[in-house]
Amino acid sequence: MTAPVAFQVEVAAPADGSTAARVGRLVTAHGEIETPQFMPVGTNATVKALHPDEIAEAGATIVLANTYHLYLRPGHDRIDRLGGLHRFMGWDGPILTDSGGFQVVSLDHLRLVDDDGVTFRSHIDGSVHRFTPERSIEIQEALGPDIAVAFDQPVYPSSPLEVVADATARTHRWAERSLAAHTRTDQALFGIVQGGIDPGLRAESARAIAALPFDGICIGGLAGDETAAEREATIEVAVDALGDDPRVRYLMGLGSPADLLEAVHRGIDLFDSVLPARVARNGQLWVPGGRLNMRNSAFLDDPRPVQEGCPCPLCRRFSRAYLGHLFRARELLAYRLATCHNLTFTLDFMARIRAAIRSGIFPESLPELRRRAGRESRGEVVEQSA
Ligand SMILES: [Zn+2]
Repeated sequence: MTAPVAFQVEVAAPADGSTAARVGRLVTAHGEIETPQFMPVGTNATVKALHPDEIAEAGATIVLANTYHLYLRPGHDRIDRLGGLHRFMGWDGPILTDSGGFQVVSLDHLRLVDDDGVTFRSHIDGSVHRFTPERSIEIQEALGPDIAVAFDQPVYPSSPLEVVADATARTHRWAERSLAAHTRTDQALFGIVQGGIDPGLRAESARAIAALPFDGICIGGLAGDETAAEREATIEVAVDALGDDPRVRYLMGLGSPADLLEAVHRGIDLFDSVLPARVARNGQLWVPGGRLNMRNSAFLDDPRPVQEGCPCPLCRRFSRAYLGHLFRARELLAYRLATCHNLTFTLDFMARIRAAIRSGIFPESLPELRRRAGRESRGEVVEQSA
């Protein structure tokens, strides 16, 4: 039996320890993904405001879809009957689904976790539902992505240690149950490392998940309320504990250019986040060195493109003035053009990172790449004036 995905490290991290960054290739039945790579998120089987051709034109080679959302609406059985997720959403490239664990657990007041699974209320109509590892896998097998993910229990990084320890142990038990429930041989299954920001728990979790026959390793429970320093230290602990494990390493939920860069530097291959698209819809356009707030009235008379030389459909054709006008008038085209730009910027940034690693100059290129990313890490915003 051939594996549903194959991962090959093409440029390994240098032995001198100057960086853990590496370049690899993840091969799936629907296409190949060069890593380090960013996956745009299609929550409802659509990257909000974009046509699939625009997602591809922005440079995306894989997208993520949300199990929780698609289970509630339109229903995984319906998507299965209609030929699976690829056909349903008109995307021929690779797709990864999450397990729903993050959504059902992050809806804090609506859920009840026990050892068997999670009972939660739908955010749509308040109806009561239950996810177990077996149910999550059944739903993901019906949806039919190239890569499914084990059901886990993430907790906020700032949670008390005993809460983190309890959720991490449960995540390990659920990892084994997810593996036992998974039957589709044409679909990969990734396991999730938890452990919060406690170095002991995180290392233990990385070793526990790596001991299981998953096709890839996700690092979960970050991109929450931890500081950048806590996150970076935790990534180092997890990557260290994984050692020379040959599988792809995917850090869940991280999306700002500065955060992506620091995680690649520490050995992460794969990322996903709603952030580039979400901030785009709020009128925040990422450019080298920071971001432009298109609601700033100074842009209403600015004939320049958002970013000189950017190949996206916004910058090729339209001015800052026009985009600023669209946002003020709440015209739908604003959301589409802004999302195209931020995804193009993010995916181009990942391509620059890969090029630097391939050329063997990534450590020396870090200052320049950090400048390009801006200093923004989650809440911190560096706005450029017109
Ligand atoms: Zn652009």
